[in-house]
Amino acid sequence: MELNLLTFIYLVASVTFIVGLKMLSHPDSARNGNRVAAFGMTLAILGTIFLYEKERARLGNYQWIFGGILIGTIVGTLAAKRVKMTAMPEMVSLFNGMGGACAALISLVEFDHLVHLDPGFLLIIVLGLIIGSVSFAGSIIAWGKLNGSIKDFSFKGQHIFNILLLGVIVALATYLIVLLPSNAAFIFYTLFFLSLLYGIFFVLPIGGADMPVVISLLNSFTGVAAACGGFLYDNKVMLTGGILVGAAGTLLTILMCRAMNRSLTNVLIGSFGGGGKTNATAGTAAGIHKEISLSDTAVLMSYATKVYIVPGYGLAVAQAQHACHELEKLLESKGVDVKYAIHPVAGRMPGHMNVLLAEADVPYEKLLEMEQANDEFPTTDVVLILGANDVVNPAAKSDTSSPIYGMPILDVELAKHVIVNKRSMKPGYAGIENELFFRAKTSMLFGDAKKVLQDLVAEIKNL
Ligand code: NDP
Repeated sequence: MELNLLTFIYLVASVTFIVGLKMLSHPDSARNGNRVAAFGMTLAILGTIFLYEKERARLGNYQWIFGGILIGTIVGTLAAKRVKMTAMPEMVSLFNGMGGACAALISLVEFDHLVHLDPGFLLIIVLGLIIGSVSFAGSIIAWGKLNGSIKDFSFKGQHIFNILLLGVIVALATYLIVLLPSNAAFIFYTLFFLSLLYGIFFVLPIGGADMPVVISLLNSFTGVAAACGGFLYDNKVMLTGGILVGAAGTLLTILMCRAMNRSLTNVLIGSFGGGGKTNATAGTAAGIHKEISLSDTAVLMSYATKVYIVPGYGLAVAQAQHACHELEKLLESKGVDVKYAIHPVAGRMPGHMNVLLAEADVPYEKLLEMEQANDEFPTTDVVLILGANDVVNPAAKSDTSSPIYGMPILDVELAKHVIVNKRSMKPGYAGIENELFFRAKTSMLFGDAKKVLQDLVAEIKNL
C-alpha cells in the first residue's frame, strides 16, 4: 500500500517537473512553473524519507537527513536572495556543480556495496562517477571564470591532451566494467581523479564569448549523472528528473551552439575560444568615434517612427530596466513604435534580457528574437544600444581571426541611425574592439545606462 502511495507520489512529482518546465518557457508563467516543480520535488523528497522501504526497513537517520536539509535550505535561500542578477550565471554554475558532486558521491559511496552484484550496476556507478565528477570540476572552474577569480589558461597541444585524457578515461572504465580486475578499487579512484582533471582542463581554456554553451552543457551532464543515480536506486522520480535536466540542458546547448555558431564536437573537446581574450585585445582602434548629446538623442528618438532598443549586459549592471521601460512608454505615447531586439546570448545567462525586461513589466510581445529583429532593422529609424557590445560586433561577420567570428549578430547597421550607450570605449565580455562604434552611422552616448535613460526621459518630456 505504502509502496503504491510512494509510486503515486513519484508520478505526481514527475508530472509537476514536466508541467513546471513547460511553464518556465514563458516569462508570465515562469515563477509559478518554478513553484510547481519545487512543490513536486518537496513531495518526492518527503515521500522518500518517510515511505521508502527496503526489506521492510525505513530510511532512519532522520537527524542527519533533516540536519542536512536544514543547512542546505539556509545556505541556498540566503545565496539565492542575496545574489545580484548579474551574478546569477555564477550561482547557476555553482549549484550545478553541487548536483554533479552529489551524483559522483553516490557512485563513490555505492561502489563498495554494489560492485560485485552485476556489471550493469557497475556500468551505472562508473558513468555516474565520471559524468558527475566532470560536471562538478567543470562547473567550479566555470564559476571561478565567471566571477573573475580564475583566468583563461591553455597550453600548446591542450586539444590533443583533452582527447587523450578522455580516451584513457573511457579505456579504464571499459577495463574495469568488463574484467573487474582485483585492483578494481584503485582503478575506480583513478577514474575519479582523471574525471576531475578532465573537467578542469575541459573548461579552463574556454574564454571569449563561449561560456554560455559550456554552462548549459555542464548542466545537461549533471542531469545525466543524476539519472544514473535514479537507475541505481530504481528511483523513478530521480530518473525522470535527471532525464529532464539532461534533455533540457542538451536542447539548450544545441540552441546556444546555433546562436554562437559553434559545433557541439568543438565544445566536447574543449577546443574553442581558447586564448580568445588575449588575442582579441590586440585589435587596434578602427578610427574616431563621434558622440551625440542627450538633447539630440531626445529629438532623434521623439520624431522617429520606429525605434529598436538593443539591451545587453550593461543594462543589467546598471539595473536600468525600469528606466528603459519608462522611455519606451514615453516614446509610445508620442506615437513612436518601440520594440526590443534580443540576442540569444546577450547578458550573462540564457534568457537574461527576457528576465530583466519582464521584471520591469515590459510586454513580452515587444521582445523580438534576433532573426525577426534583423528583418526589421532596414525600416528602423533609430537603434538604441544599451550596454550591449559583443552581440552587435560586426567583426563576427567579417574578421576571421576574431574569437567571435561566425557568431550571428544583431545587424543594427541596417537601421538609419545607431546610438550606443555605454560608459567608455572599453570592450565587452569577449575583450575585443568593436568597429561598430567607429562607423559613420553610429553615435556614442556615454554614461551609466540608468542615469542616461533617466536624463533622456526628462529631456523628452521637456521637448
Ligand atoms: P558585453 O559583455 O559584450 O558588453 C557589455 C557592455 O556593457 C560593455 O562593453 C560595457 O562597456 C557596458 N556596460 C557595463 N556597465 C554599464 C553600465 N552601467 N551602463 C552602460 N553600459 C555598461 O555584453 P553583450 O550583452 O553584448 O554580450 C554578452 C557577452 O557575454 C557575449 O560575449 C556572450 O557570449 C557572453 N556570455 C553570455 C552568456 C549568456 O548565457 N547570455 C553567459 C556568459 C557569457 P563600458 O564598460 O564601456 O560601460
